[in-house]
Amino acid sequence: MGDHLVNRISSETMLLGVIGDPIRQSKSPLMHNSALQALGLDGVYTAMHVLPDKLEDAIRGVRALGYRGINVTIPHKLDVMPLLDEVDKGARVIGAVNTIVNDNGKLIGYNTDGIGYVRSLREEAESDLRGKRILVIGAGGAARGIVYALTQESPEVIWIANRTVERAVELAADLQSYGNVQAIELERILDIRSNVDIVINTTSVGMFPHVDASPLSLEGFRTDLIVSDLIYNPLETAILREARLRGSRTHCGLGMFVYQGAYAFEYWTGRAAPVEVMRQAVLQSLK
Ligand code: NAP
Repeated sequence: MGDHLVNRISSETMLLGVIGDPIRQSKSPLMHNSALQALGLDGVYTAMHVLPDKLEDAIRGVRALGYRGINVTIPHKLDVMPLLDEVDKGARVIGAVNTIVNDNGKLIGYNTDGIGYVRSLREEAESDLRGKRILVIGAGGAARGIVYALTQESPEVIWIANRTVERAVELAADLQSYGNVQAIELERILDIRSNVDIVINTTSVGMFPHVDASPLSLEGFRTDLIVSDLIYNPLETAILREARLRGSRTHCGLGMFVYQGAYAFEYWTGRAAPVEVMRQAVLQSLK
């Protein structure tokens, strides 16, 4: 913690933070404190290690201590929901909360992961997702938020393929009423690959330290494809490297992390988040 931060903490400082288990690897404190400092706001953001059997106490603490807001990460995103006063519609559909706003004692849960991802994809790779044909690899928690947020952009179709096909089928069934969402078997990607505009890897395949692993070969896909990966460590995963080498546009997970934080910051402070400051803070720490 730099001197500048210590010097500006007062009895009126807005309290923010993140709870999770584990939590020590989190880049959120660095990102949010950089943002608070850049805007000259009197606030501080810390990381708090909360074990699952202490989650209820932690949320009681948020109320009792008057925290303005917290982020919630693995493994608490689902279990925190019944402990809140209100859960926003998007978070309810997704079935997970990653951001809590304390409005004068009333705790409201949001999910900014999916909208953060879409804002990043639109700003960094493709501004108009209408009519696009999107292939999502993976059907875990992150895929859920992303597929829901993508349905709000009116793509022509979202195909979901996953190692465990039943999870893809379940996810597609849950989100079908919001758009044309279809589960497909991994082998069937061969049949649709030349029609795909955007491929999104939502699996953990390729994440550090398994940096040579790829969830999918891009052979047979068009070269004017956009390939997007939720992973940001490393910034260029094996599938993004393959995409770049064949001349396709690439989009990494750093922007999703930054924009999920930006939305949370905006909910808590009512101010536009200094997105570039946040991005640089995380980028520097990854180098
Ligand atoms: P999750 O719920 O555990 O889901 C993991 C997904 O990866 C499942 O679809 C799983 O398939 C698949 N998978 C795991 N290992 C696999 C393998 N060896 N081969 C094929 N598929 C495999 O995890 P999550 O929370 O959705 O996170 C997924 C990824 O997104 C992680 O890499 C995470 O770092 C990243 N993420 C990034 C951000 C960001 O801000 N950029 C935010 C959230 C998550 P099965 O269903 O068959 O197990």
